Amino acid sequence: MIEIKSRGELEAMRAAGIVVARALALVTEAVKPGVSTAELDEIAEQTIRDAGAVPSFKGYHGFPATICASVNEQVVHGIPAPTQVLAEGDLISIDCGAILNGWHGDAAVTVCAGTIRPEDAALSEATRASMFAGIEAIQVGARLSDISHAIEQSILTSATKDGVKYGIVKDYGGHGIGTEMHMEPFLPNYGKPGKGPRLIEGMAIAIEPMLTLGGNKTDELDDGWTVVTLDGSRAAHWEHSVAVTDDGPWILTAPED
Ligand code: MG
Ligand code: MG
Repeated sequence: MIEIKSRGELEAMRAAGIVVARALALVTEAVKPGVSTAELDEIAEQTIRDAGAVPSFKGYHGFPATICASVNEQVVHGIPAPTQVLAEGDLISIDCGAILNGWHGDAAVTVCAGTIRPEDAALSEATRASMFAGIEAIQVGARLSDISHAIEQSILTSATKDGVKYGIVKDYGGHGIGTEMHMEPFLPNYGKPGKGPRLIEGMAIAIEPMLTLGGNKTDELDDGWTVVTLDGSRAAHWEHSVAVTDDGPWILTAPED
């Protein structure tokens, strides 16, 4: 069952999405060498609580923080820590979620502390571009796997342009979102078009491709959360929560203006 939202409910989700966007913007501004991921977490939590919202990750299956902070070979679900201090050139993916009036927003960005390596910049841009390709595929009447296919095609186009074979992480993907953070349907970041449910107005889906500079295999650290690339290659992760509307995709976690 895919949850269908009324226009008013999507507007409530947009309000939650704005809170997430604001938190990510402030965290992004704070990313620099010498800053710990715990400090970034504090900024996100304060921003969310100041808006009257609740950090959705905190306590989710026991996750201890407001953001996931995944550095370099960490792909997703990294736990912020005072001991994890960013160094020059570190690539960090920040994932953040908030609940406002019962509605969820979920988004992620990848940024660099200090000067970014050219290959990391290309990796992050390929990931971001594939997210937007997925978003553009969100049209009433399209099939779910059309989104997956658009994401994969965009990655392949970037790979050709950049002369790099990007790994598309297979174990994680996008998801429905609304009254819960993770809902039906699951959305792989690759696949053939024309399969799965048809998109109708009122669905909301988090689009979140994860790419690596190496292979697509991942492993989970002993902390029970942090997902790393098996080959130690760096990873990038971008995410927006997006509504399906008759006017096309509505990016619920876009910045306010
Ligand atoms: Mg997320
Ligand atoms: Mg998500």
